[in-house]
Amino acid sequence: MAKTPLKIDMHTHIIPKEIPNFAEKFGYGDFISLLHHKPGAARMMKGDKFFREIQANCWDESARIEEYKAFETKVQVICTIPVMFSYWAEPDNCLELSVFLNDHIAEVVADHPNHYLGLGTVPMQDPELAIKELERCKELGMPGVQIGSNINNQNLSKPMFLEFFQACESLGMAVLVHPWEMMGREYMEKYWLPWLVGMPAETARAAASMIFGGVFEKCPKLRVCFAHAAGSLLATIGRLEHGYNCRPDLVAVHNDVNPREYLGKFWVDSITHDADYLKYVIDLIGSDKICLGSDYPFPLGDLEIGRFIEEMNLPQEDLDNIFYQSTLDWLGLSKKKDKKIIDSLFEKN
Ligand SMILES: [Zn+2]
Repeated sequence: MAKTPLKIDMHTHIIPKEIPNFAEKFGYGDFISLLHHKPGAARMMKGDKFFREIQANCWDESARIEEYKAFETKVQVICTIPVMFSYWAEPDNCLELSVFLNDHIAEVVADHPNHYLGLGTVPMQDPELAIKELERCKELGMPGVQIGSNINNQNLSKPMFLEFFQACESLGMAVLVHPWEMMGREYMEKYWLPWLVGMPAETARAAASMIFGGVFEKCPKLRVCFAHAAGSLLATIGRLEHGYNCRPDLVAVHNDVNPREYLGKFWVDSITHDADYLKYVIDLIGSDKICLGSDYPFPLGDLEIGRFIEEMNLPQEDLDNIFYQSTLDWLGLSKKKDKKIIDSLFEKN
């Protein structure tokens, strides 16, 4: 029986407990604010509309450590909640919000280096400003950033984003692509469909755009991880390949490489809620490209943090990869150059 190794959960969200009133400050917009209406819970408000209720584990970093310890998880990679991206805002205002969120994450990591690594957020609607904040994130010691699956409905294959991806590549900053602003959500209000159907489609849209747009060709050293096991991308790889073969006039217009060639060149997280599907993903892209993720602390996440993976009877090598090594590789952290960080992650407390 394989042993459960160190667990690093690379897909978790956090938000500061107190957020300035940006809507009032900037004089417009549905910026997110928190109403602390009772102990241990807050209402997330989008402008003056109720968005969702969140619990203290969304902001209380010490409570989180206790909670995830129960699932033998030692470290969380934290990033903001996608609704905070605010790419719709004026670029300067979005930069100010990003700086606020990134400083908070850097502070949490500095206070608990044994338990947290952080990803930044950047104003993607203005790639030049995004690169500026990306550079600052690197200076803050962050190994990467999280970006949305689309930027104000622009696909990630758009030439305007290439410079940003090139900057990530040259700075060695990892990228987590997370679904948000799900396409078609206005037509599927019921049954939580934007989350259940829209999110996987969004991530597939982002990944396929980057593949067909040639982003991975132009940035061969760029390290990207797609959330939720890349959504519906891997389940439809046969269809993508067939489309590429039968209608290259539509598909291969910017990149003449079979999409299947990219399997094993990007990372995905393990959030599948399905051992059979995860097995398929392992066979398809290799356990060295699959990172333990949970989407903590949200109810649609894998809140037992990989317990189903422990029950899959995987070889030790696959467990080691999924539970920590793939994440370290994706983040570009190695014992040789990041000894201090790696030692603190492996420290026994
Ligand atoms: Zn998430």
